[in-house]
Amino acid sequence: MNEKKEKKEGGFLDVISLGAGKQSTYMLLQALEGKFKYKPDFAIFSDTGCEPDYVYSYFEWLKDLVKTKYNFDVIVVSEGNILTDTLEYVNGKKKRVASLPLRLGSGCLIMRQCTNDYKIKPLRQHLQAVRGENKIRLWIGISLDEMERMKESNVKYIKNYYPLIEKQIRIDSIVDWYKKTNTPEPMKSACLICPFHSDAYWKRFKKVFPKEFKKACDFDDAIRLYPNLKSKAYLSKHLKPLKEIDFSYENSLFPELIEECEGLCGL
Ligand code: SF4
Repeated sequence: MNEKKEKKEGGFLDVISLGAGKQSTYMLLQALEGKFKYKPDFAIFSDTGCEPDYVYSYFEWLKDLVKTKYNFDVIVVSEGNILTDTLEYVNGKKKRVASLPLRLGSGCLIMRQCTNDYKIKPLRQHLQAVRGENKIRLWIGISLDEMERMKESNVKYIKNYYPLIEKQIRIDSIVDWYKKTNTPEPMKSACLICPFHSDAYWKRFKKVFPKEFKKACDFDDAIRLYPNLKSKAYLSKHLKPLKEIDFSYENSLFPELIEECEGLCGL
């Protein structure tokens, strides 16, 4: 789907950045019902290749729904699989990989390159290929309670647009909407191996999705001796192997993702 779009009145293509989480899914479905002041032209999903299975299942359901009901397209772009690319780098089969914000024994984080390389880059490449003479109004699903995550775009052809904030919509009313309308509610969308996951996330994940939790633990073991670092690397802020952490205590002080990717991860 790389045909160039004709110049639109107003000069903007309206594109929904879809993460298949609660906010961006709500934004998409409401937009298709005409609840915002613009109408989206298409949605785009940057696939990092390692979302949990439940995200992919939900995404496929959503993609089919909007195609069948609204004849609306969701485009998938990808730059590869963060998990397998990282393992190949660690095993010396790749010369470079975009780094995850892994936690080091010294207490620092490795510089985060994954958002840019696996999320933003493929999205922008596609937008550049199709926008023709238009600029892009990029719809980002951040609700009012997270408005500190709003950012200006750093490229001239993209204007970031926050319709949920414009309409003062909070996450509570979004969750209510899923219940009232009997719409299946998506779970958190973010890479399975994201070092920003909180204890609360891992605790629930371990209980509900033990096979995928093991996959994350195996990955965590594999990155311990990440190349060219002076200290060991971990996924967890506890600087311990994920498989050894006791998540039985209650109430993490940290929200699910304590830092997120440019408004493009965990949506
Ligand atoms: S969810 Fe985490 S691992 Fe995935 S791209 Fe964002 S910061 Fe990187």
